[in-house]
Amino acid sequence: MRASQFHLSTLKEAPSDAEVVSQKLMLRAGMIRKAAAGIYSYMPLGLRAIRKVETIIREEMDRAGAMELIMPLVQPAELWQETGRWDKMGAEMLRLKDRHERDFALQPTSEEVVTDIARQELKSYRQLPKNFYQIQIKFRDERRPRFGVMRGREFTMKDAYSFDRSAEAAGRSYDIMFATYKRIFDRLGLEYRAVAADTGAIGGDRSHEFQVIADTGEDAIVYCPGSDYAANIELAEALPLLARRAEATKPLEKTPTPGKASCADVAQLLGVPLATTVKSLVLATDDVDEKGNLAGVTVWLLLVRGDHALNEVKAGKLEGLKAGFRFATETEIVDHFGCKPGYLGPIGVSKPVRVIADRTVAHMADFICGANAEDFHYTGANWGRDLPEPDLVADLRDVVEGDPSPDGRGVLAIQRGIEVGHVFYLGTKYSKAMNATFLDEDGKPKHFEMGCYGIGVTRILGAAIEQNHDTRGIIWPGAIAPFEVVICPVGWSKSQAVRDEAQKLYDALTATGADVILDDRDERPGVMFADWELIGVPHRVTIGDRGLKEGMVEYQGRRDPEAARLPVGDVLGHVL
Ligand code: ATP
Ligand code: MG
Ligand code: MG
Ligand code: MG
Repeated sequence: MRASQFHLSTLKEAPSDAEVVSQKLMLRAGMIRKAAAGIYSYMPLGLRAIRKVETIIREEMDRAGAMELIMPLVQPAELWQETGRWDKMGAEMLRLKDRHERDFALQPTSEEVVTDIARQELKSYRQLPKNFYQIQIKFRDERRPRFGVMRGREFTMKDAYSFDRSAEAAGRSYDIMFATYKRIFDRLGLEYRAVAADTGAIGGDRSHEFQVIADTGEDAIVYCPGSDYAANIELAEALPLLARRAEATKPLEKTPTPGKASCADVAQLLGVPLATTVKSLVLATDDVDEKGNLAGVTVWLLLVRGDHALNEVKAGKLEGLKAGFRFATETEIVDHFGCKPGYLGPIGVSKPVRVIADRTVAHMADFICGANAEDFHYTGANWGRDLPEPDLVADLRDVVEGDPSPDGRGVLAIQRGIEVGHVFYLGTKYSKAMNATFLDEDGKPKHFEMGCYGIGVTRILGAAIEQNHDTRGIIWPGAIAPFEVVICPVGWSKSQAVRDEAQKLYDALTATGADVILDDRDERPGVMFADWELIGVPHRVTIGDRGLKEGMVEYQGRRDPEAARLPVGDVLGHVL
């Protein structure tokens, strides 16, 4: 590739709304251009890196025996209604109507469609196991799209779905995917950790996230440096440790009143550890009249972990219920706040979720206790106030660090991560809801045992940059660099000798399969170097008349502090 033919468009400054370094550098390098919040064009340079990520994923998925297909971006509501997720997905799912007023959604994920395929295609146990995957656009109307490709609304995901005869066989499919993900992230050249993750309503211990280690990550990971133990802080397994600390705090004498309770009080009232991540909000009140109607203004916002939290609440599992709280019904909430029925979605999970989701109990407690009752009144606009971003890791460092690891092999530490992959055992959740069965050896129909496996293809680019950059720009791991080698001829238009040598080197490198770009723009060295350092090309070879007279060129690896002189003939050995 010649630079004059390629579309290079680097910027001196990042747009002022860019927040994190990967977003700034991708914009400055000309990899992405923003169309709307969380919606980007992938420019030729960005697409080259994306294609490399996709190729590695595709090769490893194929090697693992998975089969690629493509499922529709626009998916019919009927399938989503079968599993109840048409209602459950809430505002994150973008819905649309066709000209006949039929409902559709842009796929945020594809369990429903793939289960529909399985129930039509996979009739017999002889056809199992099967693993279908796609590398496709997803749309999630994220509450807070940000950080460029890291939390986009439109983004590319590799999503795979396995179908098995039994839970045991599904476990094997899971293990294969787990090993495949390790190969993928090893090949991508990223520092990552596989961490145990919350299994939500499914239960069990079969959910792992692959987290790229970076200070700007949105997730917090507890891990044991001396062993393999690692878990997302959200995971209950990690939480008993935190709960023990909470136990040491004074027991509650009575129900705390807003404005009086400490964070620990609130956590205890709810029967959850301080580190609980808020995923759902449940409205509750202790202020009901004798008929059981919501009477006053004292509305507590109770917060619980995970989508399944509501069921825990309903099952009376949360200690908070014992503290004399009664949970309001949807009708009560609707009556009290005058909002439209259905607007709230499942009982109690309502608009405030979008305003103050993803907070720790500590933050929520501050929020609840520091706020006036008026803050909780439904106005038609947004509820509540937005909070400053919680610093989960800083909040929890004292609580976590130094505690014994659950595996008994050392003490815990905490760090931040970016979730780039997620493997999940689904059991029969979807196959039962959609009545997807096959005929087993005994001639009886059985529900498929399923698993799902996602990788954030475009998020990987952001994560790689968060982990690998310096003041001059991006430092790509070789495997996903848009170009691996750049040749910078000094005096391109003036010197035939430079042009000839540059072309010779280009041909020799290209013949080895390397991805080379020749900068024939006739720019000054300073301009060329600044561009390629910003873009992050791993190897740079500079060719000038003066060096050539002695048979020498300059070589600089992207991480090298300075250039080194090399005999022309040594370049290949150095770069490859
Ligand atoms: P997060 O916790 O970051 O919102 P998630 O758990 O909702 O992610 P999954 O449903 O597990 O995401 O999807 C699989 C993968 O897709 C994630 O591991 C992540 O790498 C990627 N992904 C999810 N949401 C986004 C997004 N908004 N932008 C870019 N990539 C995303
Ligand atoms: Mg999400
Ligand atoms: Mg997640
Ligand atoms: Mg996930």
